[in-house]
Amino acid sequence: MEIKDNKLYIGGISVDELASNYGSPLYVYDESIIHEKIKIFKEAFTEIDNLKIYYAVKANSNINILKIFKNENIGFDAVSPEEVELALRIGYKKDDILFSGNNLTKNEMRKIYESGIIVNLDSLSQIETFGQLVKELKFKEKVPVSIRINPDVGGRNHPETITGGPNSKFGIYYDKVSDALKLAEKNNLVIEQINSHIGSGILEADMYMLAFNMVLETAEKIPGLKQINLGGGFGVKYHPKEKSMDFTLLGKEVNAVWRDFCSDYGSVPVLSFEPGRFLIAEAGYLLAEVTSFNATPTYHFVGINTGFNHLIRPMAYGSYHPIYNGSNVAGDGSIDSVIIAGNLCESKDIFTVKKGVLEPRDMHTFNIGDIVVIAVTGAYGYSMASNYNLRTKPPEVLINNGKAVLIRERETLDYLLKGQI
Ligand code: PLP
Repeated sequence: MEIKDNKLYIGGISVDELASNYGSPLYVYDESIIHEKIKIFKEAFTEIDNLKIYYAVKANSNINILKIFKNENIGFDAVSPEEVELALRIGYKKDDILFSGNNLTKNEMRKIYESGIIVNLDSLSQIETFGQLVKELKFKEKVPVSIRINPDVGGRNHPETITGGPNSKFGIYYDKVSDALKLAEKNNLVIEQINSHIGSGILEADMYMLAFNMVLETAEKIPGLKQINLGGGFGVKYHPKEKSMDFTLLGKEVNAVWRDFCSDYGSVPVLSFEPGRFLIAEAGYLLAEVTSFNATPTYHFVGINTGFNHLIRPMAYGSYHPIYNGSNVAGDGSIDSVIIAGNLCESKDIFTVKKGVLEPRDMHTFNIGDIVVIAVTGAYGYSMASNYNLRTKPPEVLINNGKAVLIRERETLDYLLKGQI
C-alpha cells in the first residue's frame, strides 16, 4: 500500500481506479505480500529437518490464491471434506494434503479415508466411530490415523478464537493420550500423526513454545510418530499498538526444542505447521464506497456499501481493522471522529468497534463516493462472508506486478436463487 497524490494505491493501482473498474464493494489482494510472508515463514524454520508447511485454506479459499501457495510448494490444510475435494481437484498430491476436521460423521470419515488422506480424529468417541468404520469395511492392515491433542494451553487472544485449554471443544486432552492409544489398538488403528492448534492471533513466541513443549511431551508417549503438527495461529498486526510475532526468535526456539526432542525420541518425524492468517491477512483489502452520513447527539456515522456479511470479524469478535479514506488518504482538509457503519438491516453492523462497543475513529474527511479501504482483510474475510439480507458477495481481484486480474466474479441474485424450488 502506498500513497500518491493523496490517493491510496494497492500493488501500484489506485483504489479509485480499482473500484471504478470492478465496482464496489470489492476484495483486492496484493500477491507480492503473500510471497513476502511465505519467505518470512520459510526462513524462520530453515534449520528444521523434515519441515512441512500446509496453508490453512479456511483463511481464504479462492482457487487463484491456492495456486500461489501450491507453486511455492506449500501443502493444503483442509478442515472439511469439501476442502479436501477442492485440493484434489486443483491437483494437490495426497501427501500434500493434511486434514483436520471436527465432529465428523462416519460417512465423512469414509470419504476422506477413501481419498487416500489420513483422517484426523479429535475425540475418543471419533476414534471409536472410525474404528467401527474400519471394521465394517473389513480392513486387514492397521489403518494409520492422526489425533488432535488439546495441550491444555490456549492462545492469549480473543476468547472466541482460542482452541486449546479447558473451554475448547477441540482435541483429546493431553492427559487422555493413553486412553487414545488403547482405543486405537483395540480398533485396529495406528496413530502416526498428532496435531494441535491452540488458537489464532498469537503474537508472542512464548505462548507458542508453551504449547509446543506440551505437544512434544505428549508425543513422547506415542511411539513411531511420522508427523507432529503444531497447527497455525500466528498472529498479524491489526492494531497500530500491536507488535508482530518475532519469527527469528520463534524459529530459534522451535529449532532448539525440536533437536532435543528428536534425539530423545530416536527419530526425526516431520514437523509441520498450518498457518492461515499470517500468510494471507495483510495481502487483502476490502474496498467500499461512502453512501451516506448520519448523526445522533453522540456519534457521526459514515455509511458504506458493505456490511458484516462481507467482513464479519468486527461484529463477531470485536476485531480492529485499519480503515482509510482511500480517496483522501493524506488528509486534505480536516479530521473527523466517525463511526464507519455498514448497509445491513442490523444495528451491530459497525466496522469501528472496540470489544463490541462503538468506537469513533479519527479519519480524514469523507465525501459521498469516496473509497473506504478496510485493510488486513485477506484472511477470514471473503471465506466467512455470507448472503445475509440477500446481499451478493463482492468480486475478488488479484494484483501482481502492477496488473489486476479478476479472480472471482461478483455474485448475482440469479446465482443466489439457484437450487430453490
Ligand atoms: N489449523 C486449524 C486446525 C485451525 O482450526 C486453524 C484456524 O482456526 C488454522 C490451522 C489456521 O489458523 P490461523 O489462520 O490463525 O493461522
